[in-house]
Amino acid sequence: MYTLPDLEVLRDFNAIAILTSGGDSPGMNPAIRGVVRAALNNGIQVYGVQRGYSGLLAGDLRVMTSASVRNIVQRGGTILKSDRCEAFKQKEVRQQAIKVLEQNGIDALVVIGGDGSLTGAHSLAEESDIAVIGLPGTIDNDIFGTEDTIGFDTAVNTALDAIDKIRDTASSHERYFLVEVMGRNSGFLATHVGIAAGAEKVVVPEYEVQIEQLGQQLCDNRRSGKGSSGIIVVAEGQTPGLTYRLAQQLKQQGEEPRVCILGHIQRGGRPSGHDRVLASSLGAMAVRYLQAGYSDIMVGVANGAILDVPLDSVIRYRKGLDPKLFELALLLHK
Ligand code: ATP
Repeated sequence: MYTLPDLEVLRDFNAIAILTSGGDSPGMNPAIRGVVRAALNNGIQVYGVQRGYSGLLAGDLRVMTSASVRNIVQRGGTILKSDRCEAFKQKEVRQQAIKVLEQNGIDALVVIGGDGSLTGAHSLAEESDIAVIGLPGTIDNDIFGTEDTIGFDTAVNTALDAIDKIRDTASSHERYFLVEVMGRNSGFLATHVGIAAGAEKVVVPEYEVQIEQLGQQLCDNRRSGKGSSGIIVVAEGQTPGLTYRLAQQLKQQGEEPRVCILGHIQRGGRPSGHDRVLASSLGAMAVRYLQAGYSDIMVGVANGAILDVPLDSVIRYRKGLDPKLFELALLLHK
């Protein structure tokens, strides 16, 4: 449960459009439901845009009713579909999207997605009179200005389910497993998963991995009787194949590790209870912020409270991995 800000209703809207963009994340559906139900209950019409910015450019909008969002709170993915639309980075192309919104009498837009999607949302807010609100929807939890993102908690739990199973095989065969989780630029998911899974080691893009030291640590574990099997969680990083390369290097040091790439299963599945509450709250509050006259902001969470962050800051600053959290992940298996 989150503390909600006190916001006075100052503005009326004709219609709000909502879209999901970038990689899907579990919880996008309860967020859509939150926006739709909150808007309709305030007498505001809602349009669902299909397939993110691509669908917006194509004018693929559907009127959303209360029934459109019935029975979706528990479903992963996004009923609106998602897409990546490279062309949207061009101003002339965004002008076309603004025309589509205006022609349909839409005066507000809610965008659910990662930092790329929120960059597009910020540009739309700057380049039009449409009120725009962003919601952080990504399993990476790498968005500046919010402690949590829609889908992160579910992805952590999905990875843990898989790792708990892999550990049985690791233990039976007395082997180490390198388990790759998502995270090209950020190690939030890997660090949380590593701590929760009791991993021997966590490898993240933010810190260089000392592979010789790791090989030595595994060897010492065997010798000292601490253990001859375990889990090393690796964030995928920028260059594909990192986890296989690490396994190869460990082989040269006498280990026989196995690799398991969790891949897209981390994006899917039923949203956790935590993500459903987060997404529902953010969705409903997006409408309330619009009614209070806000635009060009992201609605996020910090210290147990819902808050607004200017989209300009969200996209300008990078959310760094807390070094203390990473240290903790290492400390717990020394
Ligand atoms: P995730 O990284 O979690 O998959 P994301 O929203 O960051 O989500 P991106 O592929 O970076 O995913 O961006 C999604 C879409 O947002 C892009 O396909 C594009 O349509 C739009 N977008 C990204 N960057 C910009 C930009 N600089 N200007 C305008 N639109 C952008």
